[in-house]
Amino acid sequence: MPAALDGVVRQVPAARAPERVVRSVCGFCSTGCSLDVHQRDRRAVNVVPTRGHPVNDGSACPKGWEALTPMVAPDRATRPLVRRGGRMVPVDWGVAFETFAERVKAVQSAHGPDSVAFLSTGQIVTEEMAFLGALAKFGMGLVHGDGNTRQCMATSVAAYKECFGFDAPPYAYDDLERSDVVVLVGSNLAIAHPILFERLQRNPHAPEVIVVDPRTTETAMAATLHLAARPKTDQVLLYGIARALIERGAVDHAFVSEHTSGFERFAAAIGRYDPARVCAETGLDDADLHRAVDAIAAGERVSFWWTMGVNQGHAATRTAQAIIALALMTGNIGRPGTGANSITGQCNAMGSRLFSNTASLFAGRDTTDPGHRQEVADVLGIDVGAIGDRPSLAYDQIVDGIEDGSIRGLWIVATNPVHSWIDRRRLGRLLDRLDVLVVQDLYADTETARRADVFLPAAGWAEKEGTFINSERRIGRVRPAHRPPGQARTDFEIFQGIAEFWGCGPMFRRWRSPAAVFDLLAELSRGRPCDITGIGGHAGIGDDGVQWPWTEADAAAAPDGPPLERRLFADGRFHTPDGRARFIHDEPSPPHDATSDDLPLILLTGRGTSAQWHTQTRTGRSPTLAALAPARLHLEMSPHDARQRGLRSGQDVTVRSRRGALTAAVFVTPTLQPGQVFLPMHDPAVNALTAPGFDPWSRQPAYKHTAVEVVAAPG
Ligand code: SF4
Repeated sequence: MPAALDGVVRQVPAARAPERVVRSVCGFCSTGCSLDVHQRDRRAVNVVPTRGHPVNDGSACPKGWEALTPMVAPDRATRPLVRRGGRMVPVDWGVAFETFAERVKAVQSAHGPDSVAFLSTGQIVTEEMAFLGALAKFGMGLVHGDGNTRQCMATSVAAYKECFGFDAPPYAYDDLERSDVVVLVGSNLAIAHPILFERLQRNPHAPEVIVVDPRTTETAMAATLHLAARPKTDQVLLYGIARALIERGAVDHAFVSEHTSGFERFAAAIGRYDPARVCAETGLDDADLHRAVDAIAAGERVSFWWTMGVNQGHAATRTAQAIIALALMTGNIGRPGTGANSITGQCNAMGSRLFSNTASLFAGRDTTDPGHRQEVADVLGIDVGAIGDRPSLAYDQIVDGIEDGSIRGLWIVATNPVHSWIDRRRLGRLLDRLDVLVVQDLYADTETARRADVFLPAAGWAEKEGTFINSERRIGRVRPAHRPPGQARTDFEIFQGIAEFWGCGPMFRRWRSPAAVFDLLAELSRGRPCDITGIGGHAGIGDDGVQWPWTEADAAAAPDGPPLERRLFADGRFHTPDGRARFIHDEPSPPHDATSDDLPLILLTGRGTSAQWHTQTRTGRSPTLAALAPARLHLEMSPHDARQRGLRSGQDVTVRSRRGALTAAVFVTPTLQPGQVFLPMHDPAVNALTAPGFDPWSRQPAYKHTAVEVVAAPG
C-alpha cells in the first residue's frame, strides 16, 4: 500500500471530492494524542481528535485542533538557501547538499572531525532521529551531538538510569485514573498536559491530589492539597516526607528488602529532615506537611508524577530520585495506580532518548562499551571502526566548545535554541562566530535559522511518515496527509541526500524508508529493556499504538496483540545488575543564581498557556491560538511585591537579571507568593534573562530560578 494511503481509516463521500481520514499522532507534546486528519485532493483540510483512542478518546488541546497551521502557512520555507555575500540566496538541492558537504568537510579537515557538532530535537519521527544520529556519527565522523531533549528530559533519564538501571518510565496514563492519591511535583498538568489533566479529573476514586508547586497554578487550584514550597526546596520537602513516612511506619519493608538496595543508607541520611527543618526551609506549615504524609501513608495506590518544575532545577536529578524513593519505600510501583512517573515534554522526546544515537548508542547502549559497539555494528552491517568510543559532549558543553573554539561548525535540526536556550543572547553571539552553521527546519525566519549559512527546508508533521513514542512508552504511527510545500523535503530525504553527497551513501542503503529503519531499530532493541522485536514493523502498530517493550516472546504469548495499557516492574525486577532499584540521596545545594539586595525576586518560568508550543515557531502563526493567550508578554507578580513597588496591573515594567532586561506588562495576582515572579517561556525575550546553571548529573539547564528585580518601565 502506498505510504499516503496507509492509515486511511475511512472513506467519506463529499460533495466536491472524496475525503479520506488519515490517522496520526499529534506533533506537539508528549501526551501523544491521536488525531484524524481529513484529506481532500491529497491535501489536509481538517483535523479531529480520534474517538475511542486509549490516550485521548476524542479530546485535544488547542494546539492539536490547530495542528494544520504549518501546512497552510504562506511563510513556510520552500527552497534551500545558501549564504552568499551576506545574503541568503535560493539554490537547488544539489547545490545545497554540495555546499553542506564542502563547508562541513573544510571545517573538519582544518580543525578535526569533532570540530563540527549537531543539535537535534524531540520533534521529528524516531526513524529520522536514528538516521541523523547514524549519519552524523558513523557516516560523517562527528563525535558530538545532542538533542533539545536535554532541555526537558535529561534529568528523568539520569534519574531512572541510576535508580532503575535503564531509562524506563514505568507507568501507563491509566494510572492517573486508578490512583487514590496523586502527587504532582513541579507539574502544571492542566496547562502543560491538558489531556492528562482531563484523565485525572475522570478518576472515579475521589483521589487526594497533592500538588507541590511554588505557584498556585491551575493544577494547584484543582488540588485537594497545595504545598506551595519555596522555589527549589522540593528536595528538602521530599526528604522530609520520606523521613516522616519512616517514623510513621509507612514503609513497605517486604518490597524494600526484596526489590531495592540502599534503603538503610538513605534512611540514615534523611534523618536530619525533621518537620521543623523542613517547614523552616520550604515555608510550609506543619499541618500541611503532616496531611501530605498522612495521605501518602494511607493511600493504597499512590502515584507520583513530575515534569519541568523538577527537571529544570539545579539539583534536578537528585530531586527526581527523591520522588522515586518515595514510590519505592512505600511499594508504590508496578501496580495499577502507582509509580514514579516522569511526564515527557516533546512529542518524541522518548524516541530521542532511546534511538537518537546522541547521549548513548541506540537502545540505551553505552558508547564506551566495546560489546555494545560491536552489536550495533553487526545489526547495521557496518565496520565497528566507524562507531567512535568517545561519548558526546552534552548540549551546554557543545555551546562552551563554540566559545573556546573547539567547535567550529554546527548543524541544527528542527529546534530554535536562540529562543529556547538558557541565557540565549550568549548563544546567539556564539553562533555568529561559527565557521559554518547549517539549520534544517520548517521556517527560515526563526531566531536561529536567520543566522544560518546553509538552510535546508524540511517537511513537518502530517507531511511525513514514521513513529513517535509518547510519555507512557506508546509507539504510534505518524502518517503523511499533505504534500510538503515547494521543494521542502522530509528530514529523512534530506539525510539521504546528505549521505550521498558526503560519500557515505552505501553505508545507508538499507535505510531506504522509515519503515525499513523501524525494522533496524527493532533489531537494535533485541534483548534490551526497550525490546520491540514483537511489534512486527510499522504494519504491526495498530491504531492504538504499542507500548514498549513488546518482544517476540510477548507477541507469541498474546495472539490478540498487546493489551491497551501496560506498566513496568510488576515483577519487582529492575534493570540494575542485581535486579534491585536503588535509593539515591545527596545533600541539597543552593541554586546558582542567588537573589541579592539589588535582585531580590526569584523569576520562575514555565508554560504560560496550553495554546502555545515552546518557541511558537508553528503555533505563533495561528490567529486562533494567538487569540487564546495575552497578546503582550505579562509578568505575574504577587500583590505584596506590586504594592511595595507601587505597581498596578497592566502597567509596563522592566524586568532585569544579571544578563539583561525586558519589558512586560505586570499582572498582579495572588497566585504568586511574595518574592517570586513568573514569565511564560514562549516569549523570545524571556531566556535573555535566565541564568546558565545546570544540574550536574543530567546537565539539564536550571530554568526555574533566576534572580531579578522589577521596576516601573521608563515613561
Ligand atoms: Fe494532545 Fe499534546 Fe497534541 Fe495537545 S499538544 S493535542 S495535549 S498531544
